[in-house]
Amino acid sequence: MSRVGLHLRVPWTSDSLVRMPKRHASRSFLLIAASVAAAAALCAQGQAPPALPKLEKIKDDLYLIANSDVTPEAMRYWGGNITVLLTKDGPILIDAKYARAHDDVVAKVKSLSDKPIKYVVLTHNHGDHSEGAPALEAMGATVIISNDDRENMARAPNPTWLPQVAFIGQSRLYLGGKELQLMQYRGHTRGDTVVYFPASRVIVLGDLLTTSDLMPPIVNYGDGGNWTDWTASINEILKMDFEYAIPGHGPMVTKAQVAAIRDKFVAIQQRVRVLNREKKTQEEVSSTLMNEFHWAPANNIPGMIQELR
Ligand SMILES: [Zn+2]
Repeated sequence: MSRVGLHLRVPWTSDSLVRMPKRHASRSFLLIAASVAAAAALCAQGQAPPALPKLEKIKDDLYLIANSDVTPEAMRYWGGNITVLLTKDGPILIDAKYARAHDDVVAKVKSLSDKPIKYVVLTHNHGDHSEGAPALEAMGATVIISNDDRENMARAPNPTWLPQVAFIGQSRLYLGGKELQLMQYRGHTRGDTVVYFPASRVIVLGDLLTTSDLMPPIVNYGDGGNWTDWTASINEILKMDFEYAIPGHGPMVTKAQVAAIRDKFVAIQQRVRVLNREKKTQEEVSSTLMNEFHWAPANNIPGMIQELR
């Protein structure tokens, strides 16, 4: 199994991790400044910011904070999905969106529970899932991530915040009579965390799965992801007993839909292997994948050509 060590920028997700200024006071200020700058940039382009995220009920104790517009623009502004599990001892969040979503996220969780947020589990290190975590920690939550993706965060230029709790392989969270199973897989990054709720047979897959055609699955080679491990991970995950899967971006899907996405990306990999044997150029590989699969993220193609020789 070949390993590639390229550092590639991906089209719709930040691999620049969490960039936080050093101290809390200046952090809040800079976060506000960053939000204002982003809003100003949108206004300068004559665009209103994307609509606020929406709150969707999945089960009595399980909610999704999802972008109202399933577009790359809304993703770049607000970030990925947040899953909320309610327990009698406080809510648990899976992922944290961008920092500018903080007030809206806190208000939405408050509308569900008067208890403080107890834990935030990060599916991986990318900013659209993790940038909001430090402000939740400052409110008293404990932030958990896989040790490998914590190391991805630590490798970023000038990291100023890192989660205090990291696990290797597997972990369990027990709170208020509820159980969460945390499992580490490799694919989108080297340490993707999958969160399984056995009581409701729902699984949160982070960016191992995205379900919008506008934001299809990609791997981040720079953070240790690759398509060979992605496929093995999804195959393992499909052996588990779940009904619905919550992706990093896009709407919740059934287990059968997860299998269909797996099949599509297995076919794409097989096609790249054939194109490699035919010594096709990067441009030819891209145009073939676009024509046949409507998928060809520019920053995944060079890594795939290397990986799938
Ligand atoms: Zn990501």
